[in-house]
Amino acid sequence: MLEGRIAVVTGAGSGLGEAISLKFAKNGATVVLADLDVEGAERVLQQIERDGGKGRVVKTDVSDHDAARALVDVAVKEFGRLDIAVNNAGIGGPTAPTGEYPIDGWDRIIGINLSGVFYGMRHQIPAMLASGGGAIVNMASIAGKVGLPNAGGYAAAKHGVIGLTETAAIEYAAQGIRVNAVGPGFINTPLIGKRAVLDTGASSGGDELQALAALHPMNRLGEASEVAELVLFLASDRASFITGGYYNVDGGYLAR
Ligand code: NAD
Repeated sequence: MLEGRIAVVTGAGSGLGEAISLKFAKNGATVVLADLDVEGAERVLQQIERDGGKGRVVKTDVSDHDAARALVDVAVKEFGRLDIAVNNAGIGGPTAPTGEYPIDGWDRIIGINLSGVFYGMRHQIPAMLASGGGAIVNMASIAGKVGLPNAGGYAAAKHGVIGLTETAAIEYAAQGIRVNAVGPGFINTPLIGKRAVLDTGASSGGDELQALAALHPMNRLGEASEVAELVLFLASDRASFITGGYYNVDGGYLAR
């Protein structure tokens, strides 16, 4: 589905970014794997190469504007152009009600989860315009559509990602760049293990995971590959008339 395409995926060294990178490579894309965690990204690249795919790791802090520019420069210099970008890197941030939410934690999560997406698009878009178009998929969340108690920074950033996605989609639709957002429910990744995004009131361990699962009508957590499937579709030409959308992959969470 992505034969010959050049794709950048941020947060590629773990969880959703890992699953997306593997799926992109299996479908013919060359993947530039961007992550702060170089070891994680190298591990994913090795898997891609074992499967016969191609890629390159670039150590990147998405909250650093210069790093976002350097990432796009590497893709363009090494592979000639940029066709696809997935702005996926993110953290859970602090867990506290808004009246107690740590100020430095707010700045950090907005810096990574919201400004990181903007810095990415700020440089991805000119590169895509230079080669006649492209597709961007931004990783939002169910918390981009509804509130998430004790995760104000996370919810604010994800709501912001959707607004930015819709805006860029309108701005660049006529120039061949599609921009969409994906909103996962709770997915079985290391981020959930860090228990950073939700206070369910449950004790810990298995109880807590079960409480998270029960928030979804399907009564289970999602798998990273289930999110990657949607991202692959949106990044591909099969989604040729789709832009400015928010697509949930959440086991029914938002339908409640
Ligand atoms: P994860 O912790 O497994 O992976 C996140 C990756 O991003 C890690 O490899 C980490 O090193 C990297 N990263 C963190 N900060 C970075 C930075 N400043 N610059 C570059 N890389 C950085 O988490 P995940 O579950 O795969 O989450 C990926 C995205 O999906 C996030 O944006 C998250 O908010 C979103 N999301 C996750 C869930 C879920 O339940 N897991 C649900 C909805 C949305």
